[in-house]
Amino acid sequence: MAVLLLAEVTDGALAVDATAKAVTAAAALGEVTVLCAGASAKAAADEAAKIEGVAKVLCAEDAALSHRLAEPTAALIVSLAGDYSHIVAPGTTDAKNIIPRVAALLDVMVISEVTGVVDADTFERPIYAGNAIQTVKSGDATKVMTIRTAGFDAAGMDGSASVETIGAAADPALSEWVEDKVAESDRPELTSAGVVVSGGRGVGSEEDFALIEKLADKLGAAVGASRAAVDSGYAPNDWQVGQTGKVVAPDLYVAVGISGAIQHLAGMKDSKIIVAINKDEEAPIFQVADFGLVADLFDAVPELTEKL
Ligand SMILES: Cc1cc2nc3c(=O)[nH]c(=O)nc-3n(C[C@H](O)[C@H](O)[C@H](O)COP(=O)(O)OP(=O)(O)OC[C@H]3O[C@@H](n4cnc5c(N)ncnc54)[C@H](O)[C@@H]3O)c2cc1C
Repeated sequence: MAVLLLAEVTDGALAVDATAKAVTAAAALGEVTVLCAGASAKAAADEAAKIEGVAKVLCAEDAALSHRLAEPTAALIVSLAGDYSHIVAPGTTDAKNIIPRVAALLDVMVISEVTGVVDADTFERPIYAGNAIQTVKSGDATKVMTIRTAGFDAAGMDGSASVETIGAAADPALSEWVEDKVAESDRPELTSAGVVVSGGRGVGSEEDFALIEKLADKLGAAVGASRAAVDSGYAPNDWQVGQTGKVVAPDLYVAVGISGAIQHLAGMKDSKIIVAINKDEEAPIFQVADFGLVADLFDAVPELTEKL
């Protein structure tokens, strides 16, 4: 079995954590070749070569592969697909754009958000907002899938794979980059942060969300939010954690003024330690919390921040 793994490369840099976790999943399937693609991808390819369990790295540099346009990258993967039994990628925003196109072009099904590898044809993935695990057996000649990286440990960085330079495929010219609008933040990226502090509707206003941000900054954490907090305008859209937001699995997740609806739990219940602060002792979040504090957040959060 041979696996082609699309690495997450942004502006020439490898997303090491997401890629190394996907390598752990892919290594259970066979020999892993990592593909680093972009306008500039050499530094990312050299970094990917250090991931343990990687047999070879393919480096494709071409202007057509810049700006995260999905179509040229999908065309490149399809041009390589004949050599591989499995095509996988970490389930990042970019891969969710690219991998379904690859599956469609190869006329196979896409298996998304894989959380477990049973054997070369059989995979586990969450359904119903993570309330059930589905076991999928695929008869397709090429398995095309995304990996939910939260469920896998990152492979080590003591590898020394070879790096081979390859050309891009013909650009299908179906899309064109216009501009990027990037939100600047000094905080860690939400999906890979070791600590996340999230606020919910209980925080009550955009102004009071500063309480959550201060606690997060004290802990060097990323800031998250429930959908109710986002819909109420207390927090920006890209902070949303949950079924229709981001899936996180940090070492520490602090949920403040969040009730614990299943759609929220779907995005954070794999966190290693969950702390909940809620004034309602019946709030469902306490059923998944390792540490629960029944308290008014407007007392508890400033006090906690100060003591930290
Ligand atoms: C298809 C679908 C997809 C969804 N996707 C998502 C998703 O991705 N992410 C998500 O989060 N939700 C999602 N939801 C919404 C979800 O069902 C809940 O409505 C939402 O998570 C509730 O957010 P909340 O816990 O902040 O608000 P609430 O449920 O209103 O809870 C607020 C909590 O704050 C507590 N509180 C209030 N004041 C204080 C105080 N002063 N001190 C301490 N505690 C206080 C209350 O006791 C309460 O428990 C989705 C829903 C649907 C139908």
